[in-house]
Amino acid sequence: MVLRTESGIWVAHFSHSRQSESYSKIRATTSCWMHEGACQRNEKGQCLISKRWSGQAQCSVSDQFVKATGRKLAFSRAVSTLPIQTRIRLWDSFLNQDSATKYIAQERLREALRKGLARAAHAR
Ligand SMILES: [Zn+2]
Repeated sequence: MVLRTESGIWVAHFSHSRQSESYSKIRATTSCWMHEGACQRNEKGQCLISKRWSGQAQCSVSDQFVKATGRKLAFSRAVSTLPIQTRIRLWDSFLNQDSATKYIAQERLREALRKGLARAAHAR
């Protein structure tokens, strides 16, 4: 995710992983790492910039994994050591990103549909 601020661009990389502790216990982890300026990629397309600012969010085994929530939490931890003014600009850009806000809206819609479908299935 490219974050545009008055003082230049930042890039936030996100990754999601799932570890199973047992058959029914699966923990999802969201990782975020960020850097100032554009990515420097190798021939495989991987970003080579060191992980100076990073954060992680891990679901407890009883949590339902929601990608947008994981991203928000991991992002908040990644920016937590930055100066307050920088954090404000980054949050502003993060929350105003079309993809991010659309994503959260889509997640809410999906969740509502899932609940609606479950209810409809029970009613049958
Ligand atoms: Zn990068």
